[in-house]
Amino acid sequence: ENFDNLGLSKQVLENLPAIGLTKPTPIQAEAIPHIVKGRDLLGLAQTGTGKTAAFGLPMVTRLIEYGKRPTPKSVRALILAPTRELATQISDNVTAYADGTPIRVFRVVGGASINVQVEKLKRGVDVLIATPGRLMDLLDRGALTLADTKYLVLDEADQMLDIGFIHTLRQIARLLPRDRQTLLFSATMPKLMEELADSYLTDPVRVAV
Ligand code: AMP
Repeated sequence: ENFDNLGLSKQVLENLPAIGLTKPTPIQAEAIPHIVKGRDLLGLAQTGTGKTAAFGLPMVTRLIEYGKRPTPKSVRALILAPTRELATQISDNVTAYADGTPIRVFRVVGGASINVQVEKLKRGVDVLIATPGRLMDLLDRGALTLADTKYLVLDEADQMLDIGFIHTLRQIARLLPRDRQTLLFSATMPKLMEELADSYLTDPVRVAV
């Protein structure tokens, strides 16, 4: 089995050999066809299963095939991650998936200069990878708008809850359009996570690996 028949765009498929992706992992084979069709998804998956490509490849496909270039200060797709390290990994991966396309990928995390981030966001970005705290700081400064954000990924959502980001996540949710595609990944599904999933997802496909 290979990646050819999962619905990914040609430009994305052409990047896979260089990244070392030849055979989809189970979560990729299962999730990608649903995501390219626009479905919401709840993924019960540990790290190491290939979940980054499971959401990143179809998301880049949709950004290439649908919609307009980002307007100033806007973000077409938002990926939230609990830690700087994870945000950096996701950013590096998505940048590789989008190589050779016009898709602009940017990462904002704490610890880095906020002024540089404010400046970069002025042009608008296709994919923003952020930790919730820094994203909230930037929103408070008016550095970006989520009004045009049609794709949302919550990665390692249980970790974000453990860190205490639930309030921040709810604030961010209120700034997003209701008409959007949302993908939520978590290694565990405690009750609070079920509630969060209910409030974020519409008729989600459930994938467990
Ligand atoms: P993740 O679960 O997204 O953190 O990915 C774990 C590791 O598996 C990363 O180093 C990926 O580059 C690698 N990986 C993801 N998908 C595949 C695949 N289909 N074939 C080989 N390696 C993969």
